[in-house]
Amino acid sequence: MRGLYVDGSWAPTAGARREIRCPADGRLVATVVEGDAGDAATAVAAARRAFDAGGWPATPERERGALLLRVADLLVRDRDAYATAEALDTGKRLVEAEYDIDDIVSCFRYYGGIAGTEAGRVVDTGRPDAISRITYAPVGVCALITPWNYPLLQASWKVAPALSAGNTFVLKPSELTPSTSILLMDTLTEAGLPPGVANLVTGTGPAVGAAMTTDPRVDLVSFTGGLATGKAIMAAAAGTVKRVALELGGKNPNVVFADADREAALDNALTAVFLNSGQVCSAGARLIVQDTIHDAFVDELVVRAAEIRLGGPFDPKAGTGPLISAAHRDKVHAYVTAAVGQGAVLRTGGAVPTDPALQDGSYYPPTVLDGCTTGMDCLRDESFGPVLTVETFSDEADAVRLANDTVYGLAGAVWTSDASRAQRVAGALRHGTVWINDYHPYVPQAEWGGFGQSGNGRELGPTGLAEYREIKHVWQNTAPAAGYWFPR
Ligand code: NAD
Repeated sequence: MRGLYVDGSWAPTAGARREIRCPADGRLVATVVEGDAGDAATAVAAARRAFDAGGWPATPERERGALLLRVADLLVRDRDAYATAEALDTGKRLVEAEYDIDDIVSCFRYYGGIAGTEAGRVVDTGRPDAISRITYAPVGVCALITPWNYPLLQASWKVAPALSAGNTFVLKPSELTPSTSILLMDTLTEAGLPPGVANLVTGTGPAVGAAMTTDPRVDLVSFTGGLATGKAIMAAAAGTVKRVALELGGKNPNVVFADADREAALDNALTAVFLNSGQVCSAGARLIVQDTIHDAFVDELVVRAAEIRLGGPFDPKAGTGPLISAAHRDKVHAYVTAAVGQGAVLRTGGAVPTDPALQDGSYYPPTVLDGCTTGMDCLRDESFGPVLTVETFSDEADAVRLANDTVYGLAGAVWTSDASRAQRVAGALRHGTVWINDYHPYVPQAEWGGFGQSGNGRELGPTGLAEYREIKHVWQNTAPAAGYWFPR
């Protein structure tokens, strides 16, 4: 029975168990430990010991980086096992899970590669007898709390920089999708990570996650998940003034001008919102299209959305998979029903499929809600499902105003053939990532994160590493002398 990984081995527990079932067909995937606050405390204690008395924080950064590169190689070796486990836990198509594993490898390679390349800086003190240096220290024990939509990918954005910087950690994956995080513990150990540096506790947020966010032995909480949980974590961490990094939701605009490449914009508008059945924090769930092309653009988009085939991870004809759970599907359906109640026009989808082949999974079809206007709840709240809202704009200023009309600010896109306008609009959007004539691509070298209530801090890139470092100023006087501030 796995789920509690402490001090380099799987700890036996006599406590509760949880069955992990594939959302595509309900099949039993695994049975894991359902941890509790006591398990969280045990794991935090191990991470604390490994940080305070172990050798990891003092290991040269290049060696820590070399370990990350070994992890990347092992992930490549075990790609099939990882991708299959991710697909079964989430219900996503196997090919998408394979892309995820490739991205995870890239993340470990990036942080492994830059380790030790930037050791701080020397400051000019203006004095020949004083050496002033800025150096980096690990933050300490990190609580890493991750969601279910990209389980190991989100974990890797935290684990790789945390290790590179010399921290120890306790990882708590979503209770719905723990399998690949469990596998990762074995991979880290095989790569040579000392016991206690990486620890894992499976279980729910209120039981395990909450205990980690209030534990005084934890120095940093890095969380990816929903806005309400993020607020609760920030409040809980305040008691011990932990460092908190939050990657929360988004209500992401996809702005299409009349002069855009129509086919590229259309095709990408579908991918923007329906990839992974809309369970993507950066999903382009708000199509904001210029009024002069609205009718033709949306008519064609509706036809193509209705053609997307639903199916399980191993169905080669499936275009996308199920939602993570029946409870989540109910929430998405309630969101659609409420939007229609407020005047949105349902153009396709909006009903639980009746296909007998889909009855064992939590499927929901690609859904398009046209005629959405400012003030409707559907433009404010994340559905986190395959639901596209459509708004229209008349001119550039109008487009920017609509695109920024959200408390979130994670990502957005602008489609136009006018290069100047593309740059103007990209500059005006209050979102952490802006794509011009594209949607979704990212690279580990570039920072990821949100403005506004999409969170604070950044993952990936050099800033993603900086989140896991304390900055220290070391001043050395090479010719100490009494200064007699107080005259004698
Ligand atoms: P969630 O907030 O319900 O759960 C996320 C994690 O937090 C889980 O591990 C959960 O067990 C844990 N948790 C829940 N309550 C907790 C508490 N009180 N204390 C500590 N931990 C707690 O989110 P979810 O439903 O798993 O994921 C979907 C959300 O994640 C969406 O809002 C999505 O936009 C967001 N997300 C954001 C990004 C990003 O990069 N910004 C990426 C992926 C997902």
